[in-house]
Amino acid sequence: MPATHFIADLHLLDDREPAARRLAGYLAGPARDAEALYVLGDLFDVWIGDDGSIAPHTATLDAFAALAGAGVPLYFIRGNRDFAVGADFERRSRMQMLDDPTALTLHGVPTLLAHGDVFCSDDIAHQAFRAKYTDARWRKRRLALPLWLRRTVARRARRRSTAAKQSKPARIMDVNTATVAALAAEYGAQRIIHGHTHRPDDHVDGRLERHVLADWRPDTAEVLLVDDSGVARHRLDAGGCFSA
Ligand code: MN
Repeated sequence: MPATHFIADLHLLDDREPAARRLAGYLAGPARDAEALYVLGDLFDVWIGDDGSIAPHTATLDAFAALAGAGVPLYFIRGNRDFAVGADFERRSRMQMLDDPTALTLHGVPTLLAHGDVFCSDDIAHQAFRAKYTDARWRKRRLALPLWLRRTVARRARRRSTAAKQSKPARIMDVNTATVAALAAEYGAQRIIHGHTHRPDDHVDGRLERHVLADWRPDTAEVLLVDDSGVARHRLDAGGCFSA
């Protein structure tokens, strides 16, 4: 059985940047062999709403749609940066939305998929924001604001988040292992796959595996592959092909 692919935290700004070109190469190349592709949030650095954010990402959405057209199922979990993706985004990209977290059995293993911030329970301020953006009614109210105001709010939020990252201790920006264990038990998961923390690693704690996806950087990018034999990481070259 072919491998299931996972990516997250690309933080795309627009179609023109190198990361978007790398993604397009991957979606037209190695991703065609995937059993399915899961995008676990923060695909975009910001999404102010379908009305303002589809235009700069048209080529990316078309590339996802072409992959879906080639028969690869696509799934998306909202991140804290791109929580505002809506029905037009779904239609254009042909991605199917999943709850955060989502439990399912993948390649025989009970697995929990999440953007990742659900585990960062020590960051109280972020959890307050997460409670809002994961609420469909709050998102609807936010999207009812005029576009110019959403742009201003997004710019201000990013500035605040940059400042907060510098002042918050590194520890509270990572997962709380007790929260990880509690959610794994609640969902009966033996494997967790998530992004958000930008701390790519493979953790094993007793019977529980936790695989943290790599964020994409100007010089490096990675896809996580899961198949019946386990988990592997594949680096992408600048053209989006698996590098040797
Ligand atoms: Mn995030």
